[in-house]
This record gives sequence, C-alpha cells and structure tokens, in this order.
Amino acid sequence: MRAIVIGGGVGGATAALALRRIGVDVTVYEAYEDPAGDVGAWISLAANGLRAVDALGGLAAVRAAGFEIERQRMWSAGGMLIGDVARGRRASDTLHSVSMLRGRLVATLRAAATEAGATIVTGARLGHVEETGTGVLATFEGGRTDTADVLVAADGLWSTVRAHLDPAAPLPQYAGLFSVSGVSQLDGVDPGVFNLTFARNGAFLHLRAGAEVWWSAQVSSPVTPARRGIDDATRLQELSRLYCDEAVPAAILAATTSLQPTTIMHVLDPVTTWHSDRIVIIGDAAHPVGAGQGASMAIEDALALAAALQAAPSVAEALRRYDADRRPRITKVLGTAEDNRNAKRSGPLKRRLQAAMMRIFVPMVYEKATAWLYAYEPAKLAAPDRR
Ligand SMILES: Cc1cc2nc3c(=O)[nH]c(=O)nc-3n(C[C@H](O)[C@H](O)[C@H](O)COP(=O)(O)OP(=O)(O)OC[C@H]3O[C@@H](n4cnc5c(N)ncnc54)[C@H](O)[C@@H]3O)c2cc1C
Repeated sequence: MRAIVIGGGVGGATAALALRRIGVDVTVYEAYEDPAGDVGAWISLAANGLRAVDALGGLAAVRAAGFEIERQRMWSAGGMLIGDVARGRRASDTLHSVSMLRGRLVATLRAAATEAGATIVTGARLGHVEETGTGVLATFEGGRTDTADVLVAADGLWSTVRAHLDPAAPLPQYAGLFSVSGVSQLDGVDPGVFNLTFARNGAFLHLRAGAEVWWSAQVSSPVTPARRGIDDATRLQELSRLYCDEAVPAAILAATTSLQPTTIMHVLDPVTTWHSDRIVIIGDAAHPVGAGQGASMAIEDALALAAALQAAPSVAEALRRYDADRRPRITKVLGTAEDNRNAKRSGPLKRRLQAAMMRIFVPMVYEKATAWLYAYEPAKLAAPDRR
C-alpha cells in the first residue's frame, strides 16, 4: 500500500511513522522548507499521547527531546494554591508528562519516521486533491503530482483537505484568547512543576526548564489582537500591565529575555466529515482541541488510523472504522477543552467562585474526573505486513 501524508507537523510525522510500522510506503509533503528545530513555543505531551508514542517505538527519543514534569499546581489570581495534582496523567501512571519546544518534538518525530523509511518532502504545498477510480491524485503548488492508495491529511487548523471533503465544513473562529510565550530568567521556580494561574486577564502558565523559566500567557480578549506591527517590547509592556496584580506572573514577565510571536487561539465547530473512501483528515485538521491535548490527540489519531488500515479489508472500510473508533473520544475531549477555555475567560465573580470550588473539589474529584483521558490504551499494531 502507498500513502501520501499532507503536513509534516506532529500528526503528519507520527502518521508517517505509524504507517511505516505497518509496512506502508509513505511520502510526507510539508508546505514549509524547515519549520522544525529549536523554535516555537513549548508544548507538553500527556501520558495518553506518550503511551501512543511508546507503541510506535518513539518514547526514548521523545523523552530525550524534553524533560519530565511530575506535578501540576493551580493558583488563584490572588496567589492561593487551589490544586496540586499529577501532571497530565493519573497519579499511578509511571509515564510522566514531557515538555519540550514544539519544533523539537516535530523534528524528533520526523527523524523517527525517516529512520523507519518514510520520505519527507519539504517546501511542497498541496493545492488540490482528487479521487481517481483506484486511488488519489495530489497536485502541489508548482505543478508536482503524486498518487497513492490513501491520502492522510494532517494539514492543521486551516486544512485545505477538510474543505475538499466538505465545502460546507466549519471555519476556525477566534476563541476569545490569544497566547504569547516567552523565556524568563527568574530564580526560585520549582523544577518538575507545571504552574497554572487563573489570572484576572486569562491563564498564565509557567515551568522551570533547566536554568530558564518558560511561560505562556493565554490572554482573555474579546477582540482579536494585532499580530503584526507590534514589537516585542510593546507586547511585553502590555502583558506586564495585564498581569501586574499577579505577583509570580508579574515577576516572571519582568525577568523575561525573549518572546515568541503571538498566537491567536481558535475554535472549530464539530467537523462531521472526516473522510471519504480514500482521504482522511487527522489532528487539528479534524478537531483542534487546543492547548493541553492537541498534540497528544494527533498522535493517538495517527496510531489508530494505522491500526484500522492494518486490520480492515479495504481502505474505505478502514477509514469508516477509524472514524467510528475515534469520534466518541474526540467529542468528549472537545467538551473538556471548551470547559478549560471558559475557565480561562471567566469574569471576576465567576473566577473567585471557581477558585473556592476548585480548592474543595480538586483533591476530591480531579483524579477520578480526568482518568478517562489519561488512561487511554492505544491500539496495538501487528507485525508489519506489506499489502
Ligand atoms: C498556544 C498553544 C499551545 C499549545 N500547547 C499544547 C500542549 O501543551 N500540548 C498539546 O498536546 N497540544 C498543545 N497545543 C495544540 C497542538 O500544538 C496542536 O494540536 C498540534 O500541533 C496539532 O498537530 P497537527 O499535526 O494536527 O497540526 P500542525 O502541527 O498545525 O501541523 C500541520 C502541518 O501541515 C502543514 N500544512 C498545512 N497546509 C499544508 C498544505 N496545503 N500542504 C502541505 N503542508 C501543509 C503546516 O505547515 C504544518 O507543518 C497548543 C496549541 C496552541 C495554539
């Protein structure tokens, strides 16, 4: 079997690796020349995503690309500790959440895919895809073409292939939050802890990364912020003003030495069409769940798709089974993501009430309420076959 994967991000690189593991001939086409490397904001993989990476034989490399985070502490705007829980896992999980730069995760997954025999072509943007009687024909900007038995589109939030599958598919909408990440040199931040402050103007995330502190402000704003024409110093000043009442975030911002470009956060209404008989969308293209689980879900998708392709008698049947397998879990994760976003956008009264409730309920119910997410057992791939 031959597959074309569109997009060389987290989902695309993992799909290439998973497809190689079942003996499929894979070529990945990525629009940009080299988006990977030690660039971009930081990201965390939860136990469920790591378990899927492990099933593909990539755990050691992914762990080596980042560092483990054992605890997650949640803070009120006033600096009160309102929860201290295992980070991105059940307390009993021996797999600990791993944080790293997103570019490094992508580079690591691409290296694993290449080592497994996948071909990755960069600087090739898909323009058009069509189904032929026997497969798919992909046409790239500049005129290059390729054919395959199946096309896996991991082409992200603004997916071209999603619109091809369903011209009436929803479009991403501004989520009322924008994110800015940076690096600070503040001392005194505990290692191995992911800190989440429910600040007055949105969430503030930070953790120790070696000698540095990595932070991310998810600012609640009804108006989409300007992304261009605003320099780092001005953006930092703005953030310092927005987080001036939260002692730790304010100190971290004051000791900041570098800033990543602003990311506008989006939501997408549920996408009803994930596949045709030969084409399927995975990861953010199908369901951007947002901060916290998006990369883990893209990795889970990739493995589940390979398992379905390996087990089913035809590509069309595999894509149907993949959809039926993934949809209930993704629907549940999307609901959780919306709850998380709402918690970050709360007004003053709701935020105080939320903090008081969390202080009481986090020790009692957090573990039980999140177990379904982290306990996910990925599909097991059989030994490679060559169809
Ligand atoms: C601020 C922020 C913080 C986040 N933090 C976390 C976190 O801590 N943990 C977590 O799990 N998730 C997190 N996420 C979500 C996570 O980054 C995404 O869910 C994940 O990267 C999705 O992977 P993907 O492969 O589906 O899409 P992407 O990573 O977006 O990759 C899509 C790729 O397709 C390429 N492409 C697009 N169109 C074409 C085309 N026509 N032809 C060829 N190539 C194309 C793009 O260049 C890109 O490389 C965060 C998201 C944001 C915005």
